[in-house]
Amino acid sequence: SLPKPEELKNIAELGMGNGGSVMKVEHVPSGIIMAKKVVLIDAKPSVRKQILRELHIMHLCDSPHIVSSYGAFLQDPNICICMEFMDKKSFDGIYKRTGAIDIDVVGKVAESVLKGLLYLYDEHHIIHRDIKPSNILLNSEGDVKLCDFGVSGELINSLANTFVGTSIYMSPERIQGAEYSIRSDVWSLGITIVELAHGRFPFADYSDDLNSAITPGGLGLPFSANANGSSRPNSLVIPSREEKEKELPRVDEEKELPPLPPDAQPPVPAPSSTLPVPSAGGQGSTRRRSRGVSLHGGAMTMSILELMHLIVREPAPRLKEDGGFPEESCGFVDACLDKDYEKRKTPRDLLAYPWFGIERVRRVDMKVWAATV
Ligand code: ATP
Ligand code: MG
Repeated sequence: SLPKPEELKNIAELGMGNGGSVMKVEHVPSGIIMAKKVVLIDAKPSVRKQILRELHIMHLCDSPHIVSSYGAFLQDPNICICMEFMDKKSFDGIYKRTGAIDIDVVGKVAESVLKGLLYLYDEHHIIHRDIKPSNILLNSEGDVKLCDFGVSGELINSLANTFVGTSIYMSPERIQGAEYSIRSDVWSLGITIVELAHGRFPFADYSDDLNSAITPGGLGLPFSANANGSSRPNSLVIPSREEKEKELPRVDEEKELPPLPPDAQPPVPAPSSTLPVPSAGGQGSTRRRSRGVSLHGGAMTMSILELMHLIVREPAPRLKEDGGFPEESCGFVDACLDKDYEKRKTPRDLLAYPWFGIERVRRVDMKVWAATV
């Protein structure tokens, strides 16, 4: 039976994202530990009921590569989704604790993600839409499963107004306004693989001085970091535009970046003429390396729109040549990160890639590896 709100006891907070928070809970009548995701939805009751109906698809998903669902309920003004608890949590947290992940393990992760994508697409006609390390989960059994996929069109619509879904894992064609396709998920997988294998988000390369400022999970908003990049824009919650205006820290005019288009859905990259030019006062090395980053006496700002502009304009990231990565993994990443989505491979094509067949990937025991994280 579906869990009821009053049957759930909070145990710990598992994390906070842009769309809501996730709690580790116990379903008291059964003793089952679950992960409860709470999403604030600003929508009419009829829309909320529709979302709930659509979330039911999640309940029907039955795959070793998809986090299973126990059911969802409304709890004004939130929607709560109860899902399988994955005790090793998500790969963003894992690589931040352990550093770069062994490429052969990354191969196993990529294979699971592709199988998950294929399952969602073939069995339920769903495109995931939000592939990134924080939506790929691990448990002690060594299972790798996807969560937070786009089951609900209405939920996506409601969240669209809040900029949730504007992600730096987005493919160039999505940034330019094309519809989502399964190939957009493949791009996001490519970015994710590079991030896990390098232990660092690939587009951070655009400014070595902003490594920790350019963090995954950013939104369509400018953010700022102090000189050592310690401020983390990761968990901004943007419920609405009015809220946004109220809550955003005021930046003085000099630091202000081009304003976001008020209805930037899908996001439109800022035309290059509006990109801020690094100020002449910056450090020499910073000036040389940073693109689309403005420096003002130690304070740095870069907006997600500028980053998206870079994604569209610059060559796609690749695995480092001197990183000791097997040739098969490099070829796989290049196939995922083809900027031309008509040429980009589909999950089915990619599952046949030689990377997954090589001895050192086949030998990986994910359960043994999971015990080390
Ligand atoms: P965003 O909001 O940008 O998608 P996110 O994916 O990190 O970011 P949430 O989906 O709210 O945000 O998840 C927050 C965190 O909760 C995740 O990073 C993950 O570590 C943890 N988490 C989510 N689902 C589960 C689960 N089923 N089991 C264990 N941990 C989970
Ligand atoms: Mg998530």
